Amino acid sequence: MSDFRSDTVTQPSKAMRDLMSRALVGDDVYGDDPTVNKLQDYAAERMGKQAALFCSSGTQANLLAIMAHCQRGDEYICGQNAHNYKYEGGGAAVLGSVQPQPVENSSDGSLCLSKVKAAIKSDDFHFAKSRLLSLENTIGGKVLPMDYVNSLRPFVDQHNLALHLDGARVFNAIIKSGQDERKLVAPFDSFTICLSKGLGAPIGSLLLGSEELITTATRIRKMLGGGMRQAGIIAAAGHYALENNVKRLAEDHANAVFLAEQLASIEELECDPSAVQTNIVYANCRRNQSGPLAEELAKQGILMTAGSPMRFVSHLNVNQQDIQTLIAAIKQFYVSH
Ligand SMILES: *Cc1c(COP(=O)(O)O)cnc(C)c1O
Repeated sequence: MSDFRSDTVTQPSKAMRDLMSRALVGDDVYGDDPTVNKLQDYAAERMGKQAALFCSSGTQANLLAIMAHCQRGDEYICGQNAHNYKYEGGGAAVLGSVQPQPVENSSDGSLCLSKVKAAIKSDDFHFAKSRLLSLENTIGGKVLPMDYVNSLRPFVDQHNLALHLDGARVFNAIIKSGQDERKLVAPFDSFTICLSKGLGAPIGSLLLGSEELITTATRIRKMLGGGMRQAGIIAAAGHYALENNVKRLAEDHANAVFLAEQLASIEELECDPSAVQTNIVYANCRRNQSGPLAEELAKQGILMTAGSPMRFVSHLNVNQQDIQTLIAAIKQFYVSH
């Protein structure tokens, strides 16, 4: 069985489970869970922010950030392809009364700042108040260019916006770019980390930012039903993931390139290995058969995401052998289709 659908499918390792089983716990709603507190302090110190908050999911962490930065009737500017616009059930609008103002993403995943500027609303009672700019890194597996990241702070200061990063896969960006981890997130007032994707923890995300922002976010998290009790059981896994599973993301990136090269060698597929930056590989089926292909692979215990493009994600539970098995199965499929 190998699962290329997403890096969210990773299984906690034995070492991670052992640590979880021994975790000291307390009631985190009282602030009493030593393992949660240790994780939050560790993450904040490591990443150079004042405070961190352990959240149930990346969706929740993004929502808390948007609601903490914005009031009802405010808006956040984000990418048309942003996870916190497209894939989070419209939560900011539904639960926060905060309007998204999407702007088209450039092909490298960035938002052209002149387009963002044009989207910022003047102070006029006809308009929502533009309050926050939200970026994503990595986005679709791509790392935002560092020059671009560094241009964001002066821009938001000039326009009086707060700056948030959906950093679900920010460590993939850090490992790929070789940038200092604090420097990559320094321009942002807040950012998220998903512990439950390539980092391999079963559950959990972090929101990081100023003491004041995290205090506000903690209040909203409780309101949303996200206050958890003996959460140290899962925080222990997150801590293990941050300490042990960051550097190895380079293996996932190398495997993704290997996978892309193999896919590119199959005549019926279209795949550009040079477009692969981190752990996500896209490919198109020239004959538009990705649905039947995915069904056939599933029968053989190999899972991937059909569509145009199809998506394959590398992670700590797939290795080169699994990739070779996948490639052989795809080739076999095309022999009879
Ligand atoms: C997965 C993901 C999220 C949401 O995380 P969940 O834990 O699945 O809610 C947010 N942003 C990006 C870019 C993601 O890939």
